[in-house]
Amino acid sequence: MSDDGQKPSGITRRELLRATGIGAAAGLLLPVGGRAARAAPPAEAPLPQVPRRRLGKTGRDVPILLMGGSMRFDPRFDPKLAEALRFGVNYFDTADCYAGGTSETAIGNFLERTKKRGEVWITTKSDKWDPKGMVETLEVSLRKLKTDHVDLLFLHGLDDGKALTPQVAETAERLKKEGRIKAFGFSCHDGNVAELLTQAAGLPWIDAIMFRYNFRQYGNKELNAAIDAAAKADIGLIAMKTQGSESGIADAWRKFEKTGKWNKFQSVLKAVWADPRIAAAVSQMDSLEKLKENAAAAMDRQQLGAAEHESVRRYAAATRGLACDGCEQLCNPAVDAPVRIGATMRFLMYHDAYGRPDEALRRFRELPAEAQRLQGVDFAAAGRACPYGVDVVAQMERARRLFCG
Ligand code: SF4
Repeated sequence: MSDDGQKPSGITRRELLRATGIGAAAGLLLPVGGRAARAAPPAEAPLPQVPRRRLGKTGRDVPILLMGGSMRFDPRFDPKLAEALRFGVNYFDTADCYAGGTSETAIGNFLERTKKRGEVWITTKSDKWDPKGMVETLEVSLRKLKTDHVDLLFLHGLDDGKALTPQVAETAERLKKEGRIKAFGFSCHDGNVAELLTQAAGLPWIDAIMFRYNFRQYGNKELNAAIDAAAKADIGLIAMKTQGSESGIADAWRKFEKTGKWNKFQSVLKAVWADPRIAAAVSQMDSLEKLKENAAAAMDRQQLGAAEHESVRRYAAATRGLACDGCEQLCNPAVDAPVRIGATMRFLMYHDAYGRPDEALRRFRELPAEAQRLQGVDFAAAGRACPYGVDVVAQMERARRLFCG
């Protein structure tokens, strides 16, 4: 349901209530015979399911909405995972490092308790990119996930194409033969996403890629050409960070939340799904409400209308200077210190837009010590170097106060 309480049209009220269980969950009261009575439990009919698309050369279908695991789940039994499965969102995306390493453990506990491993696609990631480190990380992941294989293994946060070596290819093939992984690829979110997609298009052993892609980048010709090349090579493409959340000035987007028939979060997801090159979008659905909203948006086959597209476009234009694309190769060299502006901005986004201050601080502290020294650094030239008008000086000052205090 949208933030203004309006149901997304295209799904009837009855279908939405049945699909999302919102009525039952909210203890919806309906008048009967002049008295209020609790609504009847949902009908036995199967719930509408999130549509599926083929994930490139993996040859398997996945839901277009994926359950992001970069958050703290209940380690015993997390109802969000159970609820996701009810809607056919049976793809759980995790990583060795997510939520301080607890995400995999919680998913493993959930699957053991529910005995649903056979129904769930698990993707995990390795922060180590070399063959030995990758295998060692996978072994730990398999233990935590309580399974003998994952459906997809990514090199996590790849930002250097040189890591895609023949030795990594051989290792991935061996892991597949051993049955410990079904498919292999990488995730990437830094400034060289287009470069990495283009490189991967020439590597037949890359099955899937999860990459940063949001509504502010639709007109980016270089990125579009790279997505074309990867899609033509039949690489399964997954969009992440679709909300393109900006750091700092939250009020800037609030006025767009009630524009059109979908809320902002639903609109930008639907804009991604409108691209047939993208198989799915991963979303950190940290509440049952968000999960139900996103599932409702996915299940409604109606495309965004002109008004919604215009709303997304205006939102993109109004917030362009607030959003960082992580292309720090453009602004870092302008600063006379080994800082990581794009990465620091990403952690500000975790803090501001995702509401994960602990993770933001932890990730910042994982940067090299010299990259954490923001005090006394002059960021003015970096602001001038940013093609999007991000106020680097103000944002780095905020980062210094938040992370270096
Ligand atoms: S501040 Fe600008 S140039 Fe630097 S990483 Fe962000 S968007 Fe790119």
